Parts: sequence; C-alpha cells; structure tokens
Amino acid sequence: MSSRREFVQKIATSALGLPVLLNSSSLFAYTNNHYDGPLLRVAIMGLGSYGTRVAEAMQSCRKAKLVGVISGTPSKVAIWQSKYGIEGKNCYNYDNFDEIKDNPDIDAVYVITPNGLHCEFTKRVAAAGKHVICEKPMGINAREGQEMVDACRAVNVKLLIGYRMHFEAKTLKIVGMRKKGEFGKIIFFQGQSGFIIGDPNQWRLNKKLSGGGAMMDIGIYSINGARYMIGEEPIWVTAQETKNDPVKFKEGIDETIQFQLGFPGGAVASCLSTYAVNHLDRFYLAGIEGWAEMQPSTGYGPIKARTHKGELTDPHITHQTVQMDEMAGIILENKQPVIPVDGEEGVKDMKIIDAIYKAVKTGKKIDLTSS
Ligand code: NAD
Repeated sequence: MSSRREFVQKIATSALGLPVLLNSSSLFAYTNNHYDGPLLRVAIMGLGSYGTRVAEAMQSCRKAKLVGVISGTPSKVAIWQSKYGIEGKNCYNYDNFDEIKDNPDIDAVYVITPNGLHCEFTKRVAAAGKHVICEKPMGINAREGQEMVDACRAVNVKLLIGYRMHFEAKTLKIVGMRKKGEFGKIIFFQGQSGFIIGDPNQWRLNKKLSGGGAMMDIGIYSINGARYMIGEEPIWVTAQETKNDPVKFKEGIDETIQFQLGFPGGAVASCLSTYAVNHLDRFYLAGIEGWAEMQPSTGYGPIKARTHKGELTDPHITHQTVQMDEMAGIILENKQPVIPVDGEEGVKDMKIIDAIYKAVKTGKKIDLTSS
C-alpha cells in the first residue's frame, strides 16, 4: 500500500465524525484510485469565478487534465500558466482561439463565459473540431441551444452541458430509488433555488450577456431537478413573476418567478426561482409510498439528503472533479451517464425557460407538447 493511501486511511479512521476531513479523505481516496487509460485534455475558456473553481477541482481528476486556456486577460493567463503548468502553445484569446484546430494537444474546450456568449463560442469551438463542454444555461433560449446541438452534430464533436448534479452521489441515489419505485407513484416536486445577487453592474443583470435574470442563472436548477427527480418531461407550464426592485432588475431581468410544471404521469412541480432570498436551495419529492428531501440540493455541497428510509450518507467528492472525470468517460469511451448531460438535455431546459417567460408575459398556461 502506498504511503499516501495509508495516510488517507488514517485520516478516514481518526477523523470519523469530522465532515471536513472525511470529505478530503474521500477526495484523496478518489484521486488515488488507479487509472491508466486515456486522458481528456481540456482548455478552459473564461477564467472567472466558476472557471477557477473548475480548474482547482480538475487538479484531483483522474481522467481529465487541464492543459490550456482561452482568455482576454493576459495577466490571468500568466498566473494560470505558472499555477497549473500550462504551456504557452496552449494559450489563446477570444480573437485567435479558432487556431486551436491546429493544436493536437487539446481535445475539448470548456466554455465558462457569460451565458450570452455560449452559443457563438460553442459554434466556433465546434468549427475548430474540438469537443465542447458548455456551462448552464447552454444559451439564452432554445433556438440558440438547438443551433449549438446542430453545429456540434454537423462536425461530429460532442456537446456536453455542465450539469454537475447529474453525477452527484446522493442525487443519483434518489433517482435510483425513484426508478425502482421506492417512492411509489410520484405526485409532487418542490424546487426552491435562489440567492441575493450583489453588484448591480455585473453581467448577470445585463440582458444581452445573461439572457434573463434568476431563472437563467439559478432557477434552471429547479427546472432541471424537477425533470430528473420526477423522471418525465413536463407537458405544461404556468408562471408568475414578482419584482420588488425594478431599478436593479430591469426589463427582461427576472428577480423572482414562481412556476408550475405538469407531467404526463399526473405529477406537478411547484418551484421558486429568485435573486431576492439567500441560501434557497431545497428539493422535495413526494410519492404515494415515500419521499425525498435535499437541502442543500444543488449547491457545491456537501449535499444533505434524506428519504422516508433515513439519511443518505454517500461521501462528498468535489462535484466538478467527478463531473470532469465522468465527462472524459463520455467523450473518450462513449460512456452513457445515468442522467443525460448532452446538448439535447440542455435544449429541453431552454424550451421550458422560454415557456416560463411566455407564461409570465401572457398569464396563460403554456402547452409544452407541441414544441
Ligand atoms: P464570472 O463573471 O466570474 O466569469 C466570467 C468570465 O468570462 C470572466 O473571466 C470574464 O473575463 C469572461 N468574459 C469573456 N467575455 C466577457 C464579456 N463580454 N463580459 C463579461 N465577461 C466576459 O462568471 P462565472 O460565475 O464564472 O459564470 C460563468 C458561467 O458559468 C455562466 O454561464 C454561469 O451560469 C456558469 N456557472 C455555473 C456554475 C455551476 O455550478 N455549474 C456556477 C457558477 C457559474
């Protein structure tokens, strides 16, 4: 046994009951698990707050490796180069990254820029013949999402959306229980997603760059969660908007929207998306024979979850570490995830977002079966 493994084992034994150490020991154990297959070599585009989180998480990956960057800020590139050992030949900016097509050392680009740039950048990466991982929301509407799917399909590269929760252990445990019928017929889902947004000048409050407000940014977790927790596609949507601060949340930027989704099996989802309440992160699934509750349900974790059978104890591993390794498996080995993360999955959420905005505007129930 390697000394690192012994160290990990010691921590796991001595730190029982201390969640922080247990979490790090889970990560050590995860990282130490032997792997000598192919590596997915990734360039991150957009070295902002989430790009930085992904880069840090990738340091513990087994199957994915950060090898390149695309950024408009040379000073950031220099820092990332020295921190992560990125070679100069793998560094690009937004004007010249099409040249990545001639770089055999990069397999995929992870687009982590403001939402309004996802579509254009994804199409350019695809045209350069590289696989694309793109953050949520995949674009600013379903039309953009479909264009991205079509562009990637046309040149035979994969398009995956950064739905990290689709690989999270407790989420998968509950989805597995629902599939086995352990909750009985599903009747109700409640999703609450929100935080208080700060700086009024940030891109998230600029319609061109964000595509919308809280719904695009955080409400999408409740939409996506309703779909994977219930396991069906909704057939109708109704929605109502509340805006308490019209100066900060201008036309086209939603502050708070409550929405309802109807599912073909008879289940209903009732959800809240908001930029006006902090730490709002809760899922509740109710069936005739059981229930599941997650709080927090989609934050960076550890996720806390319990069902009618008790607390879930699956270890926390940094979401983005698992996500990137699993995505490497999907791209390199054609692995099929339990919950899809492909472009088509992203388009499904975008169609629902489009319908929610339409329902808010018209006050009508929107049929989702015809689109
Ligand atoms: P951020 O503002 O911290 O970073 C955005 C990056 O894009 C910056 O490096 C910025 O320089 C760059 N950029 C390029 N062109 C730009 C332009 N025209 N205007 C502004 N910035 C520009 O934002 P973030 O929080 O990292 O979010 C980036 C993406 O990641 C968003 O799509 C967001 O929804 C997504 N995200 C996902 C998660 C998740 O858990 N999956 C979490 C946070 C953010």
